[in-house]
Amino acid sequence: MKLAFFNDFRLGVVKGDGIVDITAEVADVPHTGPHNLISNLIGDFARYRGRIEAAVARGTATPLSAVTLRPPLPRPGNIICMAVNYMEDGTKTEAAPINAFNKASTAVIGPNDAMVLPDVGASIFEGEAELALVIGKTATNVKAADAMDYVFGYTCFIDGSARGVPAFYQMKSRETFAPIGPWIVTADEIADPQNLQITLTNNGEVKQNFNTDDMAHKIARCIEWVSSVHTLLPGDILATGTNHRGLHAFQDGDRIELTVEQVGTLAISVRDDLKRSWGRDTRLERAGMKPETAPQRTGKYAKA
Ligand code: MN
Repeated sequence: MKLAFFNDFRLGVVKGDGIVDITAEVADVPHTGPHNLISNLIGDFARYRGRIEAAVARGTATPLSAVTLRPPLPRPGNIICMAVNYMEDGTKTEAAPINAFNKASTAVIGPNDAMVLPDVGASIFEGEAELALVIGKTATNVKAADAMDYVFGYTCFIDGSARGVPAFYQMKSRETFAPIGPWIVTADEIADPQNLQITLTNNGEVKQNFNTDDMAHKIARCIEWVSSVHTLLPGDILATGTNHRGLHAFQDGDRIELTVEQVGTLAISVRDDLKRSWGRDTRLERAGMKPETAPQRTGKYAKA
């Protein structure tokens, strides 16, 4: 089942090329807004699943082309991002120590929204293609063997970065730097989340293209480790990291499409009111794979 918010945060289920409004079916889920409607529904999903499926079976779908999709998790309780979590096509001989960071939940945007580049002197702005897990139940000190039972579903996630600013916090938690969507696919629809192709295009050109089988610390271990640090709650997002080799500058006017196999395609635009420009090459195409090797070419903060 694919759960999505659309228009003024109606809740729907994708059916073919359309979406069936199920807002009435979940009206008794305790909530004060769409953010905790979806998290409370996820936390009590077993009780609602049958009635939602019946409503979808009898309901008429509105074409997806006729609605505006919104972020499926408009303000998650936690957004945890795994750091350096790919073997990068065999270029790493061993996994980096397991590591993660928080991203501000207010940074969330949804399908077709704009990632806005802030007026800061970053050396480059990047967006990392990632598979994100949506947590289904309260997870504290979960063992890896049990961890997949805590996954409600999956969504596409772009981990935005403003590289070269003085602290990691202000690199990752920028406004609009957490695009998610286009929907949440429930876990039963994904037979093997460790074998999904992830492709990110910029203006139609493939930049990132890798498989989740290259993940350094697998999903179950990530849940085990993160839940040993702090509790995860229903509706929390755990982004599983990226293969950095295809990272490149996001810049004004770019059209980004992230496709995660069996999940869907999240499209966003990029806006930079300062109209700065960078080269179009990827880290792989540059020596050393350091973001600093892609100097800004024109605009405010460009070094002569
Ligand atoms: Mn990342």
